[in-house]
Amino acid sequence: MTNISSNAAWVKRSLAAVWHPCTQMKQHELFPLVAITHGKGPWLFTANDHAILDAISSWWTNLFGHANPKINQAIHAQLEKIEHVMLAGFTHPPVVELSEKLSALTQGNLGHAFYASDGASAVEIALKMSHHFWRKTGQAKKNQFVCLANGYHGETLGALAVTDVAIFRQAYGDLLQTVHTVMSPDLRQALPDETAAEFTQRAVADVAQLFAREHEHIAAFIVEPLVQCAGQMAMHSPSYLQQIRQLCDRYSIHLIADEIAVGCGRTGLFFACEHAGIWPDFLTLSKGISGGYLPLSISLTTDSIYYAFYHADLREGFLHSHSYTGNPLACAAALASLAIFSSEQVLEKNLGRAQELNQAFAWAKTDERIEHFRQQGMILAFDVKNTAQHSAAITPHFAPQLFQHGLEAGVLVRPIGNTVYVMPPYILSAEETQLMSSRIRTAVDKTLATGRPR
Ligand SMILES: *Cc1c(COP(=O)(O)O)cnc(C)c1O
Repeated sequence: MTNISSNAAWVKRSLAAVWHPCTQMKQHELFPLVAITHGKGPWLFTANDHAILDAISSWWTNLFGHANPKINQAIHAQLEKIEHVMLAGFTHPPVVELSEKLSALTQGNLGHAFYASDGASAVEIALKMSHHFWRKTGQAKKNQFVCLANGYHGETLGALAVTDVAIFRQAYGDLLQTVHTVMSPDLRQALPDETAAEFTQRAVADVAQLFAREHEHIAAFIVEPLVQCAGQMAMHSPSYLQQIRQLCDRYSIHLIADEIAVGCGRTGLFFACEHAGIWPDFLTLSKGISGGYLPLSISLTTDSIYYAFYHADLREGFLHSHSYTGNPLACAAALASLAIFSSEQVLEKNLGRAQELNQAFAWAKTDERIEHFRQQGMILAFDVKNTAQHSAAITPHFAPQLFQHGLEAGVLVRPIGNTVYVMPPYILSAEETQLMSSRIRTAVDKTLATGRPR
């Protein structure tokens, strides 16, 4: 077995002093932390110089590789000018330019950018702004939110309230606002005798019924357009989004498109909503927007919402802020990333990359241990079947074991339950895509054959 863990003293010290996220620290007695000292392109290098192919863009953030020369250069250049200044009462060139570029990408439909640092905060901002808008327009009763079963919007209390992932909510139920949860349009859940279109209609009908009954109390509907990413890469039809947009219009309910994971070209178009030809009232961005370099999040919104807060009195404004709101270095990284999108025709070339991805994983389409092979642009996923014969897949050990076997094979994959997915940076060569697939196949084989790696 390849030893990817380092015995360096500083790695051991990480266990005591650093409380790692989304982790049971005790498990690191068995599975040592993976110590990364540098990265280049799609490769991460461990403290003992083991190369790992990053198939998940370092938590869905990295679009153009690690240590990307263009983004590095843009941050260096900005660093020589101004590293940070408050955004209340002050402005700076990168934040202006970025806001204008994002407005242009939405053809002016979402022309007002409100900044924060992490994704959950962008969601909080959209939720607060939505309810506040209704208060201002004489509909204060609109104080409830609708979210999807299996949806994920972050883990601060407001964002967690609209998140339906049991393991994250369990301990905090008492602290969370009550929300309406509608059925997920996840196409895997269609009944055997139901077409995809019929299933989607059923999911829309669930929302229509709720809106008809409760619309006077509903401020907003929040959705991850096309792919519920943390919810096992569950994919749905653009027609769902079109019909939800219509229902929201009919009942005066805001539509919040959480594009924190699916934005920035991940689904094939820059925004996932573009596949449905709709615009939401709020669109949240984070993760990829800074190229995966620096914490930055944005809640984009419309003229109508912006001008409801436009007033001579401070108290009529949207009084929400974070210390690092609109940080110039993060905005410079975002501008450099957007520049790469246009100068390197990224969306156009991703059509070919998505094809390569599909072909590289052709083995998984016919593998009898695998079901629900699915792809949306630069997200590809499949589920390992939940059968007695392959019972390794249904134990809670499956995901950590596959992760471990992946590392040993030299690829970073982080399955969600029995869902294996890749969400690579947009820079893989055809050879690297092949390598990613074959290493993942090796890891899947090992996990299903042997169970625990040690
Ligand atoms: C990751 C994610 C968030 C939360 O972003 P953080 O930066 O982790 O707070 C919110 N919504 C979606 C869809 C996400 O994937």
